[in-house]
Amino acid sequence: MRGCHAKAMPRALAKWLAMESADWSPSYPFPGDVRQAVVEALHEAQRGLCVYCGRRLDMRQPGKSYHIEHFRPQARYPGLSTDFANLFLSCGQETREGNPAETCGTAKGDGFDGNRHVEPDYPACTDRFRFLLSGEIVPQPSGDEAAEAMIALLNLNHRELKKDREDLLDRIDGGSLDISDFIDPGGGPAQSYAHVVCRHLGATIP
Ligand SMILES: [Zn+2]
Repeated sequence: MRGCHAKAMPRALAKWLAMESADWSPSYPFPGDVRQAVVEALHEAQRGLCVYCGRRLDMRQPGKSYHIEHFRPQARYPGLSTDFANLFLSCGQETREGNPAETCGTAKGDGFDGNRHVEPDYPACTDRFRFLLSGEIVPQPSGDEAAEAMIALLNLNHRELKKDREDLLDRIDGGSLDISDFIDPGGGPAQSYAHVVCRHLGATIP
């Protein structure tokens, strides 16, 4: 899991939530301008990467290539549907063929285990996992049931993710890529799987 850096609630969201009255309560989805502000704030806090798999988010196709993810699902936690702390950006809303993606938020759906989960806070959440040279992601320490449950729920050992991570770690260890190829020291968007590289090298995304 990649997780999200500390985030500050966007002003547009705070203003909209403050409009609550006896006649109106805010509920998801957000109006357009609030949604845009939320997406931008999350994109910045996640350094442009999916909160779960760490692939770079493709922002060109809202609703198709990424979505606003409710970590505690709306269906089961309606009171948290507009809670900024519960919101993240995830890849994989829909594949190019129009099918639901097989990993991350789409695989998770309304799944969430209150007793066995890992909060998506970077870097603490990445430290709960290890990336093997085979590309596999495993709990750290082994046997950690919460980390194991998240790997299954998000399908983080999907063949494509495994293959990507295997190739990447191979190129890191072979010296054809290094950490500077993945992270922007100024805190701008990172490259896909920057968290995997950082974990492998004992570093942290700024
Ligand atoms: Zn993802």
